[in-house]
Amino acid sequence: SSWFNQAQFIPPDAIFALTAQYQADPFPQKVNLGQGTYRDEEGKPWVLPSVNKARECLRTKGLQHEYLPILGLQSFREETAKIVLGAELFKEQASKIATCQSLSGTGALHLAGLLLRACHTKLPKFYIPEPTWSNHHQVFQSLGFPCESFKYYDHEMKSLDIESYYSMLRQAEPNSVVILHACAHNPTGCDPSKEQWREIAQLMKARQLFPLFDSAYLGFNSGNFDEDAFAIRLFLGEMQMEAGVCVSFAKNMGLYGERVGCILMSTVDRQVAVNMQSMLEMLQRSEVSNPPAFGAKIASQVLGNDELKQMWFQDMMTMSGRIRAMRAALYEKLIFFGAPGSWEHLIQQSGMFGFLGLSHEVVLKLREQHHVYVADNSRISIAGLNAGNVEYVARSITQCLR
Ligand code: PLP
Repeated sequence: SSWFNQAQFIPPDAIFALTAQYQADPFPQKVNLGQGTYRDEEGKPWVLPSVNKARECLRTKGLQHEYLPILGLQSFREETAKIVLGAELFKEQASKIATCQSLSGTGALHLAGLLLRACHTKLPKFYIPEPTWSNHHQVFQSLGFPCESFKYYDHEMKSLDIESYYSMLRQAEPNSVVILHACAHNPTGCDPSKEQWREIAQLMKARQLFPLFDSAYLGFNSGNFDEDAFAIRLFLGEMQMEAGVCVSFAKNMGLYGERVGCILMSTVDRQVAVNMQSMLEMLQRSEVSNPPAFGAKIASQVLGNDELKQMWFQDMMTMSGRIRAMRAALYEKLIFFGAPGSWEHLIQQSGMFGFLGLSHEVVLKLREQHHVYVADNSRISIAGLNAGNVEYVARSITQCLR
């Protein structure tokens, strides 16, 4: 008999398993469009020049390896709040925001869940868009929250289903939480327009729904951080709503493995913010004691130094520009090869992901016959495309559809 007789076998995470499958494939022309990590024109991971320079600065300053405070690096937390809110809103609201450094975006979502759970005897319901990032349900279900999906995407029209969205908000149980992708919705690449965001905010405010922003692509989506932070600033600023913002620097700084993130919880009252801050400290202490230092030091160096920050803005333009160019290239090649169906959706989406809208059967064919690795739901990471493989990918998709 074992203490673990009741352990069940849980299948591996689909996206990580897909990466392993790709790595084990000996075919020379294989293409990995699975995992959402940026790749340069040669298909290689890219260390951002701004991040490289920040690393050099840290090295010359002399790194030590002491613990960070429980809430994380103070300068990093402050700079994060400043850039996410923008200077003006930050000045106005800094004293009403609790912040805590987290284990990247995932850790921020988890901490947000812990805080919301600790503040409610009756657990609020979570409304999560369908489709969504593959980890949302798991993170919040593991904390005991009842999770309900709502229709976000119209598979036939291949676009955001805004009427279903509004209708969910009109009927949602008051005092529930809604997960909002701040920009570059994963996996569909379809975001609400500014007008639609206004309507969403008004409906949520009227129905006392709590906005929890998942913000993993700020600045990486359009190349302009302010533009990508539009919805967050609308809810917190113009709409004066309480909200949670889960920030990740994995994609926009290329700090995937360093786990650099931050949770910002805005409230209406300074004393409530002080209380929330103290609770975040207690929750963090019991989970990880204190967060990792190196990545936060890099991010803080970039955000806190004007020259490095300008370099970083340029780096984000480089990444988002290359992604946009590859999106257009794939679209043009699909048209050129006469791939059946319409592909307009591909160039209307934004962000790192393209949602192809292919059946599972076609996805498997792509993988097995052409060594092109695409997530089961036919999401592709556009960053995996480059001038050397985009034609091969477009031809493979066309052949699988014929
Ligand atoms: N949220 C969304 C929508 C994502 O796409 C991702 C990463 O792919 C994350 C959160 C979490 O990323 P990380 O924990 O690496 O910051």
